[in-house]
Amino acid sequence: METIKTDVLVVGAGPAGSTAAAEAARCGLSVILIERRSKVGEPVQCAEFVPRPIFQEIEISSDAISSSVSKMVTYLPSGKGFSIRANGCILNRDVFDRELAEKAKEEGVDLLLNTSFVGFEEDGVILRGIDQYKVDVKIIIAADGPLSTVGREIGNRNREFVSAIQYSLPLTERFDQTEIYFNRKIYGGYGWLFPKGDIANVGVGVKINSHSKVFLRRILDWFVERLKDDGKVRSQILSKTSGLIPVSGILQEMYFKNILFVGDACGMTHSITGQGICQAVIGGKIAGRVAAKHLKFGTSLSEYKREWMSIFGEEHERARRRRRILESRWDELEFILPECWIGFRDYYR
Ligand SMILES: Cc1cc2nc3c(=O)[nH]c(=O)nc-3n(C[C@H](O)[C@H](O)[C@H](O)COP(=O)(O)OP(=O)(O)OC[C@H]3O[C@@H](n4cnc5c(N)ncnc54)[C@H](O)[C@@H]3O)c2cc1C
Repeated sequence: METIKTDVLVVGAGPAGSTAAAEAARCGLSVILIERRSKVGEPVQCAEFVPRPIFQEIEISSDAISSSVSKMVTYLPSGKGFSIRANGCILNRDVFDRELAEKAKEEGVDLLLNTSFVGFEEDGVILRGIDQYKVDVKIIIAADGPLSTVGREIGNRNREFVSAIQYSLPLTERFDQTEIYFNRKIYGGYGWLFPKGDIANVGVGVKINSHSKVFLRRILDWFVERLKDDGKVRSQILSKTSGLIPVSGILQEMYFKNILFVGDACGMTHSITGQGICQAVIGGKIAGRVAAKHLKFGTSLSEYKREWMSIFGEEHERARRRRRILESRWDELEFILPECWIGFRDYYR
């Protein structure tokens, strides 16, 4: 079997992996970025909203932005709506991911498509592309999404998930706000309507556990009927997607030996909103930089955890605690939401 040598191997070319790879290469390391799919960013499994502050972290081209939003309206189960200012944009997530991977290549990263992480051997990592080969690597950055194979190999993985399903539907008229719908049918999650020009991402995310058998598609169809009755969308389904969102909070081990976990593979998604793009991008940058400092100057990998937690730790922990309340008092949804959803002031108390 052929053996390749590199300083850093990044597994997964999503926002976390591409950003980590670019940063490590920019700091002078040799980097291989592998992606099991044949195309970066496809298929899209995302509602594509990012808050405005992400623009301070990365450059996003106009091609990667579909539309801007200025408000978020939250609907309680009773139908009452609450609006807050929430600037952000709806991405063209395929373009966004592709551009991040392109930037990594410009920094000198070797991107290998159709290539999967398979497992560890005593003296290296096994990858499978057209052939199977071994990589002799100093640092591994695991950015391989919610069901991380790297994490599974060493028993360091996400435990709880919201299962999400989404249609793309035509809007009856354009608008510039994100809409969030809570209803007891959508257990442990919510429905969303995110406008994207003349169309919208319409989805539901439901907490899955061993006791519930979730008929996700039926819940989404019910939600779409409701939006149709409200005159917001038309029934023609333009595309469908689905995916898992980790909601158990950040992994206990953000790094283990010479492996740094980042993005969804590390449980960086917000336990209440399910958003994870910002945390993945910032986490990727920190991971790439700390990997370089570790190899060049012997800096401890614990700096990675310290830096990420100093930015997101407090909010992340709040979201984790709010989810416990949300799930345990689901029958009282209307009344607990002010404390459990980011659209209300009480949430931040
Ligand atoms: C339906 C849905 C809607 C969402 N909506 C939003 C939203 O509106 N806003 C928001 O901020 N977040 C949203 N999220 C979450 C967001 O998509 C993730 O947080 C984000 O994609 C995390 O990026 P990542 O790079 O960590 O992982 P991913 O984007 O999942 O990338 C991981 C990559 O690793 C690759 N990979 C996996 N295993 C291997 C392997 N063994 N070998 C090689 N490659 C591998 C995968 O193919 C993938 O390309 C949503 C998620 C879902 C499912």
